[in-house]
Amino acid sequence: MAAVVFIGAGPGDPELLTIKGKRVIDDADVIIYAGSLVNPAVLNSAKPSAEIHNSAYMNLDEVIDVMKKAVAEGKKVARVHTGDPSIYGAIREQIDRLDELGIDSEVIPGVSSFLGVAAVLKKEYTLPSKSQTVIITRMAGRTPVPPKEDLFELAKHNSTMVIFLSISFIGELADTLKKAGYRNNTPVAVVYKATWPDQRIVTGTLDDIAKKVKESKIEKTALTVVGDFLGDEYELSKLYDKHFTTGYRKGKE
Ligand code: SAH
Repeated sequence: MAAVVFIGAGPGDPELLTIKGKRVIDDADVIIYAGSLVNPAVLNSAKPSAEIHNSAYMNLDEVIDVMKKAVAEGKKVARVHTGDPSIYGAIREQIDRLDELGIDSEVIPGVSSFLGVAAVLKKEYTLPSKSQTVIITRMAGRTPVPPKEDLFELAKHNSTMVIFLSISFIGELADTLKKAGYRNNTPVAVVYKATWPDQRIVTGTLDDIAKKVKESKIEKTALTVVGDFLGDEYELSKLYDKHFTTGYRKGKE
């Protein structure tokens, strides 16, 4: 195990932490967790002696300093991010700083919130004849989005869309998708704190979702998912089609 281990803590439910991630947390001497989103319950089994830092109150220099000092003292560091760290996790800048310092690190993946959302909705993003593509994106906030990835441009594909970090712009989001060619009655789901005890789900269409979200007072920690995968029409898969031969099974005449 590397001196610093980045861990995806999953979307909220502590049982959605990987076994490997839990083992590293249980063994860590120093834990730095993203307190604005990580469920603190994922740290319940940490050693009583573990030093715990909430990175919501720290800047990048402060995070790196804690890691550097701990590693110099021979301590094991767990850096705990929400969902999977590869999605809006801001891990690259930490890994690069650690590399410059000659500190070895590794990453343990987690269940991203967009996967938690699909699970709580009991839906499949890649429904045959509806969409075979998932676009994961966000609207520009304090972090800009490259012009070619503007929501309007991406939405022209009419694929399944998963939109992070944009709940406060839900009205603009729905309007943009309609302008880009989604039908006004395309189904939309907004999921607040998927897999947490206070999870909430708001469903609607591009026409009424903004109003419903405003009424529900959901203002943060929510994902918006859009597309006909939320509807009830689709074709059955080829994979389990009884007439279809696969590498593992012969189709019936
Ligand atoms: N790395 C994380 C995302 C971090 S960005 C992941 O893989 O999920 C933070 C954004 O993720 C939030 O603003 C929200 O849009 C989304 N998010 C994180 N946890 C969530 C949850 N449990 N339910 C719904 N959205 C969530």
